[in-house]
Amino acid sequence: MIITTRTGITEAELDHIRERVEALGLRTHISRGEHRTIVGCIGDEALLQEVPLRAIPGVESVTPVQKPYKLASREFTPGRSRVRIGDDAVIGGGDLAVIAGPCSVEGREMLMETARAVGSAGASALRGGAFKPRSSPYAFRGKGEEGLRLLAEARAETGLPVVTEVMDTRQVELVAEYADVLQVGARNMQNFSLLSELGGIQRPVLLKRGLSATVTELLMAAEYIMSCGNRDVILCERGIRTFETSTRNTLDVAAIPVLKAETHLPVVVDPSHAGGLAHLVAPLAFAAVAAGADGLIVEVHPQPEEALSDGEQSLTPTAFAELMRRIVPFAEAAGLRPPRAPAGAREAA
Ligand code: PEP
Ligand code: MN
Repeated sequence: MIITTRTGITEAELDHIRERVEALGLRTHISRGEHRTIVGCIGDEALLQEVPLRAIPGVESVTPVQKPYKLASREFTPGRSRVRIGDDAVIGGGDLAVIAGPCSVEGREMLMETARAVGSAGASALRGGAFKPRSSPYAFRGKGEEGLRLLAEARAETGLPVVTEVMDTRQVELVAEYADVLQVGARNMQNFSLLSELGGIQRPVLLKRGLSATVTELLMAAEYIMSCGNRDVILCERGIRTFETSTRNTLDVAAIPVLKAETHLPVVVDPSHAGGLAHLVAPLAFAAVAAGADGLIVEVHPQPEEALSDGEQSLTPTAFAELMRRIVPFAEAAGLRPPRAPAGAREAA
């Protein structure tokens, strides 16, 4: 249920509305707009029938929420959320944010080389997996805590905040010690214990869409995290399973405007896992930005042919720099500020 308040409502009136709703055992979520404040009510809405809500001073209207997600919905929070990552980067604030780095952290040298390259090309954050979900138990499954330490080293050297995957509730504390953003992989999108655990920490979460998940299921997964207290969720479209075999997955471009209509949360797109091949990354990235994405997450490896995971879809640093140049007109057309290489890097180029 959503309570829309009158313009000019006083703090005391707002407190009173909140107290009346919470006294029934429901939770409230306040969203302050320029003219009106909205009080979202979470819990058993039938209980609200017991109170003549419209008779409470300051209440203008009462509307039932039709969607199964509440905290993630635009009905509860009509504006756009911005999620700050690290000290300087913001996703959803009008800048096209680009997160880039290797699929897996394989070692110090390759990570530092990639971090420097993506940073000087204008990336806003470094990605890299330390715990890797692999379809085969015999494949490289990441360097674990050593990988996290290397990411922290790369952050110290380049200033880039780091994004890395957490696969299990038992790893949340450890990963949160090192990472600026915790990534939930596609295979874990409906790991509800993991989502609840991530709701209890104070670090942003990058939530990837499940391989066969609907947009509503993605939003319900975000709702899990948010309902446990963490509102800093970034959604990620990374391609879904379809009958098409010429690409690794099918990038659901339509999901971007659908999400923008349904939720205030920022949306980033992963063209690397969507297409599965390096030459598809740029065109899919352009399509994503044109369709309204707030950011991209892209795999980059100094030597893709040597990569321990996802080499076929990894861009070389040179191809990544080229992508960052070619994305500019798409960002501008979509009303976003394009990524900018740091001043030192521009002079050196
Ligand atoms: C990844 O980002 O390397 C990854 C494993 O992605 P996804 O969960 O989308 O497959
Ligand atoms: Mn990968």
